[in-house]
Amino acid sequence: MLMKSQQLSAKKTAASMNPDFIALNIQDINFDVLASYGIKACFIDLDGTVVNRGSYDVSERIIKTLRSTKMKIYIATNRPKSRDLKNLKDSLNASGVIHPHKFWGKPTKKYFENGLEDKNLQRHEVVMVGDRYIQDIFGANRAGIYSLLIKKLDKPTGFFDTLISKAEQIYTNKISKRYY
Ligand SMILES: [Mg+2]
Repeated sequence: MLMKSQQLSAKKTAASMNPDFIALNIQDINFDVLASYGIKACFIDLDGTVVNRGSYDVSERIIKTLRSTKMKIYIATNRPKSRDLKNLKDSLNASGVIHPHKFWGKPTKKYFENGLEDKNLQRHEVVMVGDRYIQDIFGANRAGIYSLLIKKLDKPTGFFDTLISKAEQIYTNKISKRYY
């Protein structure tokens, strides 16, 4: 796992695309380092982060990693409530799911603020873990929540998605050089 800065500093609200941390995948996350920043909970994206898009099948390695951390886990998704989602939450031993409130879904600032209020957390106590710059990283940064980018699990689908994913990959490679 890489960090934006070697020094511990308080997270500030910023309209920035740059994540505070970059990890290869869920297993690559260093929860001890996150805890040293005062982070107590992870908001975790589903699609492309924990499962392949549209799927509810999660790998044993991811289950093991998330179940063994002391960090509180909340699934942060725009997906609707369902039995499958509840089962996935249980298998990850997650403390809850953050759903959109009315039309305030990811990446709106309100979505993250509602999540914090709902789960009784302060913004600096949370890291948003996700695979997309707009939905996950930009949204979290704007809300003043720490942000952690991971490499997408599945291959992009369709022309437009391939373009965005390519651009994201190039950008990640570029900024990674400045990370520690
Ligand atoms: Mg995603």
